[in-house]
Amino acid sequence: MTKTIAVLGATGSVGMQSIDVARQRGYKIDFFSAGRNSALAERLAREIRPAAVAMADMRAAAELKYRLRDTSVKVLAGEAGICDGIAGSSADTVVNAILGKAGLAPTLATIEAGKRLALANKESLVIAGNIVMSHARKMGVKIIPVDSEHSAIFQSLHAGHPSEIRRLILTASGGPFYGKSRVELENITLADTLAHPTWKMGKKITVDSATLMNKGFEIIEAAHLFGVSPDKIEVVIHRESILHSAVEYIDNSIIGEFSLPDMRMCVQYAVDYPERCESAAAPLDLFALGKMTFAKPDTSAFPLLDMARRAYFAGGACPAVLNAADEVAVAAFLEEKIRFADIPRVVMNTYDMMGGARYATSLSDILAADKEARRIAEGYIK
Ligand code: NDP
Repeated sequence: MTKTIAVLGATGSVGMQSIDVARQRGYKIDFFSAGRNSALAERLAREIRPAAVAMADMRAAAELKYRLRDTSVKVLAGEAGICDGIAGSSADTVVNAILGKAGLAPTLATIEAGKRLALANKESLVIAGNIVMSHARKMGVKIIPVDSEHSAIFQSLHAGHPSEIRRLILTASGGPFYGKSRVELENITLADTLAHPTWKMGKKITVDSATLMNKGFEIIEAAHLFGVSPDKIEVVIHRESILHSAVEYIDNSIIGEFSLPDMRMCVQYAVDYPERCESAAAPLDLFALGKMTFAKPDTSAFPLLDMARRAYFAGGACPAVLNAADEVAVAAFLEEKIRFADIPRVVMNTYDMMGGARYATSLSDILAADKEARRIAEGYIK
């Protein structure tokens, strides 16, 4: 039977790879969303012919509407338009590959609509993990991770019972600056940062991989998805990005998932689960690989990794504050307003100013803390 999916963040790195999977697997896409890139959205809409497309940016939505005036594709606008598109879609799975906090409302709308959520947008869980997970449980919605590490853990968890888990092993490539000291990190440029050694990704996550903030967010994401405390989640530097993560069980067995780094496998698995189907991704040649290496992360040169654990344990809106400050700091770095070494400074200074965030419980409290953290972080940029 043909599967119908919706793709959110279709014009981005994971979004385009999701569309590629749909082409190869023959899934129908009846709704997709994008941010501002109306030219690419038009090209995709003409190829895919979905029932509807939503653009987050109002001006881009108006432009797309004009571009598609000779078609029957319905164009929706803004965050509300994305959420309406999800509710009106006949898709049984929604791939959420939106970048940043903007992915949260669509995550909640997908759960509300009772559709399977193939989740790449880790920020949904970083910002409001307890709310998202409890809402999904209440609605009986399955959240299948698309993030490669979490997909690997999800797959490895089939080998045992939750009570038999000793720890989760979250692998990290270490990014382009692995082995550099704090002092050496002071002279890093934007071009150095965007050259990731193993994965080709969007710019924001590429910078987060270089600061290890991404791995910190992944600790929080894993804690929510799998109900495992960050105390039992160990980050291991694995430069080759072949073991995508693993689970260690109480009998000392380590069960992991190995493959070449290719997000299309993760998207496909999340949509087809529990089935496995042939993939267009290249197979792993173990003889060509030869060996794999593992090392401990340097948390003094890359302090944001431990910040994420602290934020998780502090609770409330603390992880949301971390995410908000990081979104502001990375955007400023990408515009070359601050240096690489300033990113952790902006994030940690903002975090320290927001002590009260731990008491936030409701979604509106969390969103208020997010807004305040952005304001404070902006103040450190000028
Ligand atoms: P990209 O920057 O490549 O793409 C982001 C997508 O989100 C684009 O379609 C963009 O639209 C859209 N978007 C941006 N802002 C908004 C907004 N305010 N409202 C709605 N849509 C918006 O990001 P990635 O694909 O790299 O990452 C997406 C998510 O997947 C992130 O959460 C990331 O952490 C996660 N992820 C990414 C991986 C990767 O390999 N790239 C691996 C694992 C997880 P437009 O371009 O039209 O403005």
